[in-house]
Amino acid sequence: MSDSKIIDGKAFAEGLRRQIAVQVAAMKQSHGLVPGLAVVLVGEDPASKVYVGSKAKQTKEVGMASFEHRLPATTGQAELLALVDRLNRDPAVNGILVQMPLPKQIDPQAVIDTIDPDKDVDGFHVVNVGRLATGGAGLVPCTPLGSMMLIKSRLGSLEGKRAVVVGRSNIVGKPMASLLLAESCTVTIAHSKTRDLPGECARADILVAAVGRPQMIRGDWVKPGAVVIDVGINRVEGPDGKGRLVGDVHYEEAFAKAGAITPVPGGVGPMTIACLLQNTLPATCRQRGIRLAA
Ligand code: NAP
Repeated sequence: MSDSKIIDGKAFAEGLRRQIAVQVAAMKQSHGLVPGLAVVLVGEDPASKVYVGSKAKQTKEVGMASFEHRLPATTGQAELLALVDRLNRDPAVNGILVQMPLPKQIDPQAVIDTIDPDKDVDGFHVVNVGRLATGGAGLVPCTPLGSMMLIKSRLGSLEGKRAVVVGRSNIVGKPMASLLLAESCTVTIAHSKTRDLPGECARADILVAAVGRPQMIRGDWVKPGAVVIDVGINRVEGPDGKGRLVGDVHYEEAFAKAGAITPVPGGVGPMTIACLLQNTLPATCRQRGIRLAA
């Protein structure tokens, strides 16, 4: 296997975090400002705990202030919304992320709707969804934003490319399609009701898989030379009986056909937290009415 085909998201994310650290230092020097990111975790979900821990660590590493709020699984919706409201009004907090999934007594949409759109570093608030759809300057969901950075790192201009996004979730598929459209791709969004999914995928110059089904996308669905972005993170049992992570794409088969491909792990995954930190910079600038240093 040629290494050059592999899009190394881990290395890209490290580089991005270094750039963010430089910008944070410049902001501190020129404006006396330290961007602050608040992360709220409700409950004890083990994967979420690991994820929130990584976010806090990486936030501090780039020089931002990290505010962690860990609430018990029994927390009521009113209590959580009151916390979000306090964070909205706290000038030291420039970005707010409430970790999903939430316990069943809390409506996630009510939480998203309560976050100040200018502090919504996840980009899930309807105002930011609208800004993305209409070409306005808003906060873009982190996983599609990171995926787009990886695609552009390989292709440069995307104008006129045929892009297929498999999956239409609000957090990945739809914003990914909006970003590709904004880059003047011809975009198809495929989903569980799509007819002839292999045929649709095989026409893609850029194929983004965000399905949540292990290794569903096979090698013969991939157009020769296509850029394949595998957003999927699925835990499966390996031949040795141990758990391992695989994507939504059958990596070995797709590798043989693709021009470039993201591995799982080490592809899109590391970009998500890096883009959360990235989003906190323009959020801070917008709130304080300052420009980001070049
Ligand atoms: P989701 O909300 O469950 O959406 C899955 C989408 O895939 C839906 O639109 C669904 O279609 C479509 N789908 C399901 N089965 C299909 C099939 N057989 N053929 C075609 N389409 C099918 O998932 P998500 O939140 O977007 O996440 C997708 C994957 O990305 C998951 O593996 C998740 O773990 C991963 N993920 C990774 C990151 C990261 O940081 N790398 C972040 C977020 C998510 P319908 O709409 O018709 O049901």
